[in-house]
Amino acid sequence: MTAPAERAAWLRAELERLARAYYHGPAPEVPDADYDELVRELAELEEAHPDLATASSPTRRVGVAPDAAFAPVEHLEPMLSLDNAFDDDELAAWIDRLVRAGAPEGDLAFVVEPKIDGLALALSYEEGRLVRAATRGDGRVGEDVSANVRTIRSVPAVLAGVTGRLEVRGEVFLAKADFAALNDAQLRRGERTFANPRNAAAGSLRQKDPAVTASRPLSFLAYQIVGWSPGTVAPSQHEVLAHLGAWGFTVADSVRQVRGRPGVLEACAWFQEHRHDLRYDVDGAVVKVDDAVVQERVGATSRAPRWAIARKFPPEERTTRLRAIEVSIGRTGRATPYAVLEPVTVAGSTVSMATLHNADQVRLKDVRPGDLVIVRKAGDVIPEVVAAVSEPDRPRGEPWEFPSACPECGEPLTRRDEERDYYCTNPSCPARQLQQLSHFASRTAMDIEGLGEQRVSQLLASGRVTDVADLFALDAADLAPLEGFGEVSAAALVAAIGAARQRPLSRLLVGLGIRHVGPVVARTLARHYGSFAALAASPSDELESLEGIGPVVAAAVRRFVEDPESRDLVERLGRAGVSLSEGPGARASDALEGRTVVVTGVVPGFSREEAEAAIVERGGTAASAVSRRTYCVVVGDAPGTAKVRRAQELGIPLVPAAQFANLLATGRWQPDADEPVL
Ligand code: NAD
Repeated sequence: MTAPAERAAWLRAELERLARAYYHGPAPEVPDADYDELVRELAELEEAHPDLATASSPTRRVGVAPDAAFAPVEHLEPMLSLDNAFDDDELAAWIDRLVRAGAPEGDLAFVVEPKIDGLALALSYEEGRLVRAATRGDGRVGEDVSANVRTIRSVPAVLAGVTGRLEVRGEVFLAKADFAALNDAQLRRGERTFANPRNAAAGSLRQKDPAVTASRPLSFLAYQIVGWSPGTVAPSQHEVLAHLGAWGFTVADSVRQVRGRPGVLEACAWFQEHRHDLRYDVDGAVVKVDDAVVQERVGATSRAPRWAIARKFPPEERTTRLRAIEVSIGRTGRATPYAVLEPVTVAGSTVSMATLHNADQVRLKDVRPGDLVIVRKAGDVIPEVVAAVSEPDRPRGEPWEFPSACPECGEPLTRRDEERDYYCTNPSCPARQLQQLSHFASRTAMDIEGLGEQRVSQLLASGRVTDVADLFALDAADLAPLEGFGEVSAAALVAAIGAARQRPLSRLLVGLGIRHVGPVVARTLARHYGSFAALAASPSDELESLEGIGPVVAAAVRRFVEDPESRDLVERLGRAGVSLSEGPGARASDALEGRTVVVTGVVPGFSREEAEAAIVERGGTAASAVSRRTYCVVVGDAPGTAKVRRAQELGIPLVPAAQFANLLATGRWQPDADEPVL
């Protein structure tokens, strides 16, 4: 064989092996980006040497043959894959190709949908009843998973008013929150966690026992109708989605209808920017020609329709070598193992460290120093090691053992009963002190300008400070001799610390680093009790009766207020002039007093937490579900359709995101309404 022929044969075999693991195995062997690179290489080889191309090449076919463990189902029409565009130029080139294939020139209409990272499913309905469900398989023949699919709540068993035979296609997936809960449950049972939501969804759907599928929180999102009775075929993709919605299917709630190249590019950019705001994982946006007549005219290849394309986003998973596993100590003393990696570019930034979460995760993932590992970095989330890549020909190192001593202070690391984590319990561990003080000074807590980790570390090293109360005894003369401080900066820091004395109790509670107490819980406590003394004196069952406070949070708060050392610290803070009450300054206004507001989607300029905090700071309650008691629903970008629909059903006002600022300022949901309508 010639060198290119040999390489092509190797690539085909390797891609086949990887595809089997991806579609049928318990976990993919490599990240998608690595797989896609090999496909590209093969496609380029086949283009340069057309004689090397075969009909069954992975560049020309869909998926892999169905598994014999499931009954085969022949699809009504082939279930194709999608061609990819990896950048805007490839997307623009696709639009040019459409015109060459017969689409009209000018401002062609498109629908842009999220590319949900799940697996395709075909649902067959006869006379409106669900009769069969099949995976895509190799595109021609799929696997019968009917019994399993009947356990998925978002798959309607009956379609009202539908006659004849038709197929609804869409994606089965696990929403991000459901995936996290599933993995948590796996961990609690000491079982292996799933590498990603797609993999977990595939594994959950392709089960022998429907009871297992039923126990997994799978969702289905519909995007296509095939074989609709003649004469009633929807003339466009956006109408297909509307029909699906009316039949009771869930359809993506962020679909965009756009025109021409600028519209397509803008919509794809929007999805890329908001990909992490969606409730499910997406690996791209799917651009579809809207008009069904044009779709028909441009047709399909053996692998994918020509009228649709997947605009893939930059990969969030890559492989790299694990150099070592080390342990860091947080402010609560928790010891978190992390990976030291050969630097690799993931989602546009260089990653050289990634979390391994806890000892159980390291054991279950069985990652060892020296392994080739998959690293994932998604949005603002800390990079993590997902799994090791198997390298059969390479000897592996020994399994990693959790250290028995704190790497910072040398005291033993202990694991309390039923705790997942190891802790350094030495209160004067320098790593804990550094994290506690930095957290206290941070923006979400006491917001002490100029007191970052580096300065905290200097203060600790100088011996002038050991805990947060010591900060308030500092004067400029203490600081001036320290490296990097002059008289001016020393005075500025002392002034900033002084100003923090007036922060409301809610911020102090955050700063104290009580377990499970973040800004929202802290505000609930501070608003209810008004002062630390009242909180500390509250009967134990009262805490749990407060909205948003469950038994775990209540127990953590109780533990803190009953702990003599913590009480002593708070007392010292009080003596140093730090406010221990919420005070009038804590509230921006009473504009939303007694009102419950729901925010859905992204409000420009606000993170979800900031939007909720803004409501609470005006006396309102930020809720996540719409009910009769809801005052209004703020609708941002990519809102949840269920919430909007529910609000419409109940007649609750919908407030566009652009009017959020007005709502906060006036408490009115309509800019020109004289009186708020309740
Ligand atoms: P694909 O993911 O590239 O695209 C087609 C699929 O997108 C459809 O079948 C459908 O399931 C899905 N989809 C999601 N949202 C959609 C929407 N709104 N409209 C239409 N379709 C939508 O599909 P593919 O053909 O299964 O596989 C190729 C991909 O799988 C590649 O990106 C590759 O990286 C990955 N893969 C990875 C490995 C690995 O080892 N990591 C192996 C094989 C394949």
